[in-house]
Amino acid sequence: MTTTTNGIDKKVAEILPAECQLSKVEFEGPDVIIYLKNISAFYSDDNLIRKIAGVLKKRVLIRSDPASLMPAEEARKAVGEIVVPEAGVQSVTFVPDFCEVIIEALKPGLVIGKGGSTLKSIILKTGWAPKILRTPTMPSATIAGIRTSMVKEADKRKKFLSALGKKICSPTTKSDWVKMTALGGFREVGRMSLLIQTPNNKLLIDCGVNAETNDPAKAYPYLNAMNLALDELDGVLVTHAHLDHAGFIPYLYKYGYDGPIYCTPPTRDLMMLLLFDYVDVVSKSGVTPPYDKKHIRKMLSRIVVRDYGEVTDITPETKLTFHNAGHILGSSQIHLHIGEGLHNLVVTGDMKFGFTRLFSPADVIFPRVETLFIESTYGGREDIMVQRQEADRRLMATIMKTVSEEKGKVLIPVFSVGRSQEIMLVLEEYAQTHPDFNFPVYIDGMILEASAIHTAYPEYLRANIQRRILSNNSPFESKIFETVKTHDRSGIVDGEPCVILAPSGMLSGGPAVDYLKRMAPEPKNKLVFVGYQSALSLGRKVQQGNKEIPILGDDGKLQSIKRAMTIDTVEGFSGHSDRHQLINFIKNIKPTPERVFTLHGDGSKCEDLAHSISRISRIDARAPMNLDSMRLK
Ligand SMILES: [Zn+2]
Ligand SMILES: [Zn+2]
Repeated sequence: MTTTTNGIDKKVAEILPAECQLSKVEFEGPDVIIYLKNISAFYSDDNLIRKIAGVLKKRVLIRSDPASLMPAEEARKAVGEIVVPEAGVQSVTFVPDFCEVIIEALKPGLVIGKGGSTLKSIILKTGWAPKILRTPTMPSATIAGIRTSMVKEADKRKKFLSALGKKICSPTTKSDWVKMTALGGFREVGRMSLLIQTPNNKLLIDCGVNAETNDPAKAYPYLNAMNLALDELDGVLVTHAHLDHAGFIPYLYKYGYDGPIYCTPPTRDLMMLLLFDYVDVVSKSGVTPPYDKKHIRKMLSRIVVRDYGEVTDITPETKLTFHNAGHILGSSQIHLHIGEGLHNLVVTGDMKFGFTRLFSPADVIFPRVETLFIESTYGGREDIMVQRQEADRRLMATIMKTVSEEKGKVLIPVFSVGRSQEIMLVLEEYAQTHPDFNFPVYIDGMILEASAIHTAYPEYLRANIQRRILSNNSPFESKIFETVKTHDRSGIVDGEPCVILAPSGMLSGGPAVDYLKRMAPEPKNKLVFVGYQSALSLGRKVQQGNKEIPILGDDGKLQSIKRAMTIDTVEGFSGHSDRHQLINFIKNIKPTPERVFTLHGDGSKCEDLAHSISRISRIDARAPMNLDSMRLK
């Protein structure tokens, strides 16, 4: 056997009973793959896999030696006989590069079987290692595209992952310092990016754009100011899919980065949806996007996914764990354990430490934390939101006043990912309990696709929504929702009272702006803001009451629209923590960090929150500026 696995193959050989007939040990990114000639000997001891994973402290996958795989067509038949028909198997795909059979099913639990018994039968009978994927209850072109490309690119991906795995396992010298550099999103909202550096490694956490501006000096992180060669980065870690956190990642691939991206599976899918759309939206506005779609595809081929709570080696000295952030589907807080106890840090990303219909509140328990980076979107003293119940009541009251009393139409601009699904749940519940709500709710743009992606990951949602999706009663598929094609819009605007949900949430483009143009002159209509409006956004101008709205016309020229429709803002739906929730998070986080940095908020909010944290909790808290560097250890 070769010694490219830094001694791991020897350890495996010591634990494995000889009758398993070890043929080779390989890396696939952070995972260890063990190939055996006699897989049934391995499965005769149920504790073996746990024992090996415990010793190696890595995720271990067991596969049959390629020579002992059953021919694909025969194996397909065998899978058909083993898996019960109620599982709703949609496709069975063999991927020889990984010795895997990918089984897509409506009910993955039934393919897995009790305690994994069905999976075990499949590998014992066919040799192929089963990988189970859930079919979303609503069709999703994004998910279908990602799954197809993973199979198509399997050979290239295999090469990439084994090279990455060797790098992660290579011997290293001990680091004696850790440093952070603020590259974007500090004292502002947009273009989030944070560099974490040791003598051995450079990791980038988030790499976003500010989509509300086309000025490169304000839109993109300060990557150039750092003398940072992109090919020196050891990994890019993504908190969540929103463009202000992930929108600039493909640019890294355009200019020399070829390494891994780490994120949760839903973040991967939502990123693909939002990034492809971003390139389209920017191109349509007559501006050249900072990268092309081919760079997004390259990025996809480099993504390594991890669920919440899986401790993963990402460099020889760094362990990464994602924790729930409660903000959008798949959103995570990043925990890094650097240099065997040298330093531990947590980056909250965008975070909700409070009630939402979709997600559990952000985690506050970590194994160790010395430095905390906390978002500050609503960190100002005045940023106290109303309780959710009250927000729901106000939203429905303002909607009912317009559609029922005044016979007007309501436009709600929403982020396609996050706020739209939360508002859909409020409307759906209200319709169930109020028969007088018999107005159509039109869903435009990417909201439908984003909702479909939610149905592929019920385990990331609150228990009651999870149950509804699993029992084929998904709230996103309620009959009150009608999906819209672009050519339907004029009919809707000229038609009966209704509610329209359309992106983008800050009116920076997308269908919401088209509706605004059509609906603005009618005083019976109403625009209701339910989400954050950043300083540079058109949404902020409209929200402040401007009667003249500057909108880009079809000819690409700026035109001014006179607004007669009324404007309302209902707060309390945010996927961000309000001031109380941020302070509560600090009071509840365990263990208490030694140092806090505030970020992702207007300058005054970051300063205000840092000041309050120092005063209340006696923790060293500050609000760094972009380009600030600080030694953490
Ligand atoms: Zn976000
Ligand atoms: Zn954000």
